[in-house]
Amino acid sequence: MLRIGIVGLPNVGKSTLFNALTSAGVLAANYPFATKDPNVGRVNVPDARLDRLADIVKPQRTVPAAVEFVDIAGLVKGASQGEGLGNQFLANIRETDAIVHVVRCFEDDDVLHVMGSVDPVRDREVIEFELALADLATVEKRLDRTRRAAKTGDAEAKAELAVLERAHEFLKEGRGLWEAKLSAEQLAVLQPLSLLTSKPILYAANVTDAELTGTEGEHLRALRAAVESSGEPAEIVPFSAKIEAELAELPPEDRGDFLASLGLESAGLDRLIRAGYHLLGLQTYFTAGEQEVRAWTIHGGDTAPKAAGVIHTDFERGFIKADTVSYDEFVTNGGWKGAREKGVVRSEGKEYVVQDGDVMLFKFNV
Ligand code: GDP
Repeated sequence: MLRIGIVGLPNVGKSTLFNALTSAGVLAANYPFATKDPNVGRVNVPDARLDRLADIVKPQRTVPAAVEFVDIAGLVKGASQGEGLGNQFLANIRETDAIVHVVRCFEDDDVLHVMGSVDPVRDREVIEFELALADLATVEKRLDRTRRAAKTGDAEAKAELAVLERAHEFLKEGRGLWEAKLSAEQLAVLQPLSLLTSKPILYAANVTDAELTGTEGEHLRALRAAVESSGEPAEIVPFSAKIEAELAELPPEDRGDFLASLGLESAGLDRLIRAGYHLLGLQTYFTAGEQEVRAWTIHGGDTAPKAAGVIHTDFERGFIKADTVSYDEFVTNGGWKGAREKGVVRSEGKEYVVQDGDVMLFKFNV
């Protein structure tokens, strides 16, 4: 399951967003450190195709794909040195696939800003610096070990050493690893370290309501310019924590009308999840049986056995073949039966690269 960590300075709207995401009842309060304990919330991935499949198959249950959000305690300057809430924070974001960095772009004199003023460009740098320092500590620890191993002539250790030294150069200046523009091969060497500044970042820009439909304000524009000129491979998703909170209180069937009344097409949460899928190159395939219609998340380029492995590792190991039909053909032909009669169900083998929206039925040895 996709796991996304929510980070950001205190009082930028993290808990408000997190509450809205999960309705988990985390305390949102107007003081720093309100979110001391990490909280995990599971959110369904909205996908209209799944509902359409369920209409056709009429299964006993419908299971959407899910994303796990980890709300992590506010990061303050110096957190990585153990001054703030650093250590637990760092342990929690290490286990995530991507990071949502909530930045405050709204002005409100009633809401204290820990750094004294609203300035998302500075806030981005503060957090990046902290993440880089945390990575620096990890890399330095590893460097010691690898240097010793390299001295014994170990070829693998020598190769790793070169990559670690390159990473070290950037991190020691408080610069994120993404700035080092490492090759896929080099990144693979660093993979086991789960370095924070090599994770994809989504900036969730908490803007005023008016900015979502009207002209972008100066803070959002400044953030956009800073991210673009830096070349950071990140996405910016403007949202309003306030609107998300109001939305979460409505029954699901009323949410569309509420959004429309504000001139919005989709909730910030949906846009965040979509951006996360896009940033991580994720896609969806479906299983559609009478018991269960379900969406599964895989990486673009995954083969059929790999996709089967998301359901169960036995499915991957014992994979024989997969009956496969595109979502469109499945729907047009009214389900498995019609699609088979029409001859649009293919039998795919081990090499097949799963396409977004494929409906699949796996055959495997146990
Ligand atoms: P956190 O410390 O980052 O988790 O921030 P919170 O979610 O607790 O929000 C801090 C304060 O800012 C709370 O009083 C929220 O009601 C307020 N707040 C959050 N989002 C918005 C927003 O979009 N607009 C305004 N005006 N206030 C907000």
